[in-house]
Amino acid sequence: MEISVKGDEKMSRELNINDGFELRESPAKGEGIFATKPFKVGDIVMVGIIKGVLSGNHAHASQISENEYVLHAGLISKVNHSCDPNCGIRVNETGAHDFIAIKDTSVNEEITFDYAMRNYTIDHFPQRCMCGSKRCRGRISGWKDLPDEKKKEYEGFVAPYLLELDARHSCDKVQDHAE
Ligand SMILES: [Zn+2]
Repeated sequence: MEISVKGDEKMSRELNINDGFELRESPAKGEGIFATKPFKVGDIVMVGIIKGVLSGNHAHASQISENEYVLHAGLISKVNHSCDPNCGIRVNETGAHDFIAIKDTSVNEEITFDYAMRNYTIDHFPQRCMCGSKRCRGRISGWKDLPDEKKKEYEGFVAPYLLELDARHSCDKVQDHAE
């Protein structure tokens, strides 16, 4: 896997990314990120910084466009998936993903997001989902396979290119129909 590292110009931002959360052992999932202060809906929980560009998809990849995958710096790549997460994604001015609270989150709660918020398809998690939420879909699936009501629920908190792909695919379907 080739990783080309971007310049350090944004690295100073890393100084404030360790504010309000820390890496801890997570009983079922190995390790996870836990809140060390409370967050309210709309708060920036973690600031995204792109560390490198990947040549393809892999377990810690963040998909930022149809064919582009990057690695985020710091602890953001350690955030676990949940089918009922407390964070969503917003693209920041560097093109990286900030994690934004979509639920009020208390101290010691695990910070989670839905991998489907950034990956159109998921091809590296064949095993059962371990998120433990009541709304678990059983398997970690990508945006492509999310039910429409879930997509609605996540509106405004997913990588924008996912919506572009959806729009394009629904156009394709219409065209197929016309032929
Ligand atoms: Zn789940």
